[in-house]
Amino acid sequence: MEKSKKSTKRLAAAKELNKVVGEYYLECTAAKEQGKPVGWMPPMNGAIELFYAMDLQPVFPENWSPVCAAFGLTPKNFEVSEGMGYSRDLCGYLRNIVGYVNGPMTDPAIPLGGLPAPDLLISPGGGCVPVMKIFHALERRFPEAKVFKADLPQVALEEIAPHHIDYAIQEMQRLITFLEEATGRKLDQDRLQEVAALSDQACALWDEIMSYRRSIPAPFSAAEIGIMFVMVTRQGTRQAIDFLIKARDEIKERAESGTGVIENEKLRLFWDNIPLWYNMGLFNYFEKANAVVVAETYSAAWSIRLDPADPLKALALKSLMSYPLVSCVSIEKRKEMVLKACRDYAIDGVVFHRNKSCVPISLGQMDIRKALEEELGIPSVIFDADHMDARNFSTAQFQVRIDAFLEMLAERKGQAFKT
Ligand code: SF4
Repeated sequence: MEKSKKSTKRLAAAKELNKVVGEYYLECTAAKEQGKPVGWMPPMNGAIELFYAMDLQPVFPENWSPVCAAFGLTPKNFEVSEGMGYSRDLCGYLRNIVGYVNGPMTDPAIPLGGLPAPDLLISPGGGCVPVMKIFHALERRFPEAKVFKADLPQVALEEIAPHHIDYAIQEMQRLITFLEEATGRKLDQDRLQEVAALSDQACALWDEIMSYRRSIPAPFSAAEIGIMFVMVTRQGTRQAIDFLIKARDEIKERAESGTGVIENEKLRLFWDNIPLWYNMGLFNYFEKANAVVVAETYSAAWSIRLDPADPLKALALKSLMSYPLVSCVSIEKRKEMVLKACRDYAIDGVVFHRNKSCVPISLGQMDIRKALEEELGIPSVIFDADHMDARNFSTAQFQVRIDAFLEMLAERKGQAFKT
């Protein structure tokens, strides 16, 4: 597969991201060296806030996967997991992390110091099947780690009822007891409120940042969406707030001064599904038609507001809503979200990434496509790829399909287009 040229970074915040990512992973390694308990967990489930409130170190194996893709480590990791019998049809995050922990993890030359071995494995039970299976595989690889398993229901957002919340609160209390017993550290309720308030503030800032993308021209594109790293790894910390305030100020200034990510924005696009982490430069490809990807389903999934006055209930609710694109959103709701985003961001066309290794997020794309056409008259294109595995993506096929789509969009708007 031919890789597109490097993703163009125009935001100073996006350029600073390398430092932010490096600091986080160094902090993970240092925590282990200093004897601070390290827990591996999926993101977005309320456990992150408990960890920061108890001064424990959270690590997110799924987040490590895009880092592996960016550093070109995935082929080796896939080779290891496939050698163990894992099918190429499975989720790329699962195959990458299983390969990494059973292969290159012990290599001292791994970028950013790699991941420290877990003392705790936190498996919340919600989310998709592959995410649960990642934790089953991790339990086998790290038999000395203490394991917590929650048993959360998979319930659609619009169907969450008081009894679901009561149950999730009990699961959250059970997790707190587990963490206190396993680490000998007590949870301070005031500190939890503080962390929940920081987490909520990060979400408010994230929502504000996304709102500036409604400006025409758009102040930044999906090529720079890596700034959501802090929403995955740092929710509930001062570092997230400091980074997001800087990013917000820069983006706000660009939006208010009418500074677009490209000089002559003519087409505004929406991207459905996870980016191709090994080829973020792909987002710049659309610029040949003065088109910008101004919104995505994935980036919208990282903001769940919390009520700091009742942090336990807020975290319980968050745990039920975790994986907001997967387990707890009906196709109807997803359709509603995409259509609303297309109205809000004045979208001209939608690019559907039919993701071979993430079936849950790819489900319903045909229904959404039909609704876009019938209800909003917005055309769309579908291309096949994989968010982690470059072997399942053909640049040539992508370009042929996207060129035809951009040409059609340009014609609709009476614009010239040259391939
Ligand atoms: S949501 Fe998709 S990408 Fe994420 S773990 Fe599940 S299958 Fe993999």
